[in-house]
Amino acid sequence: MSDIRFDGRVAIITGAGNGLGKSHALELARRGAKVVVNDLGGARDGTGGSLSAAQEVVEEIKGFGGEAIANGANVTKFDEVEKMVADAVAAFGKVDILVNNAGILRDKSFAKMELADFQLVLDVHLMGTVNCCKAVWPNMRENNYGRVVVTTSTSGLYGNFGQSNYGAAKMGAIGLMNTLVIEGEKNGIRVNALSPTAYTRMTEDLGFGDDVAKMLAPEAVTAGLVWLVSEDGPNRTILDAGAGGFARTVIQQTDGIYLKPGEQTPEAVASNFERINDRSTMHEHQNGTGQTINFFGKAKEALGL
Ligand code: NAD
Repeated sequence: MSDIRFDGRVAIITGAGNGLGKSHALELARRGAKVVVNDLGGARDGTGGSLSAAQEVVEEIKGFGGEAIANGANVTKFDEVEKMVADAVAAFGKVDILVNNAGILRDKSFAKMELADFQLVLDVHLMGTVNCCKAVWPNMRENNYGRVVVTTSTSGLYGNFGQSNYGAAKMGAIGLMNTLVIEGEKNGIRVNALSPTAYTRMTEDLGFGDDVAKMLAPEAVTAGLVWLVSEDGPNRTILDAGAGGFARTVIQQTDGIYLKPGEQTPEAVASNFERINDRSTMHEHQNGTGQTINFFGKAKEALGL
């Protein structure tokens, strides 16, 4: 297979001053993309801020002959995000690729969590992603080309103690992806999700040893991200990546059953649950009406309509 290249492409990567975003930015630049390195430059919990982290990544990119500009927009602020996109267009002419990667943590069990910490995590991960997608959308539609990635997490897909705020935000990003896939299709915009596992400052206190930390290098995840945003990349794919492992998460539904009027009782649901839960019949819908079409089909057949 020939090398995946991004010559002539312009990419914005949020939260690219550290960790995964930095690795994504460096690799896209190495492969020819002009890169906007966005980072607020705050601490892991979102406090503080400086442009120096983004600036250092830009210097590294320029050091190997790549093209990049630094940007300090806070993704929670739509006016700053709009300006970031305007600056990208002024510097490089367009935006082809958006990697929504910026993130913070405010972990606490749900019982102890302040609503302000829930809200802030939703604001950064979910609204930050919404803001960036909204700001690049007109340019991508106009150019009939776009590759967008949202960064999700196993904490959203499956849950994790102390991360109700983060998990809700990360699953919200999947909901956003599902509809943007549908709305972006006619303009050549593809939207995918990356579910990473990596050793970064976000996970450094989980007590990984040196060997495990090495296996969990962000670069191992970036290979997946680069494919997701490539010209021939997929659409509506949740790609899981970490430590050299790559998998796909899929949202599916069992085929289900039909209960006739008069039999539509909670007791009938309970006694049929084994059939309702029959995993051998799973399928993936391409939009929300898939469920209705399936249920109507069963009802019509049973009622002879
Ligand atoms: P990181 O802390 O190293 O990097 C996150 C970056 O986002 C930081 O540089 C930070 O300054 C920036 N940022 C935070 N708030 C911002 C804001 N409002 N505007 C702009 N930039 C902001 O963490 P990481 O592990 O590299 O995480 C990257 C992404 O991957 C996050 O979305 C995270 O939730 C996700 N993720 C990471 C893991 C993992 O194992 N590390 C697992 C699942 C998901």
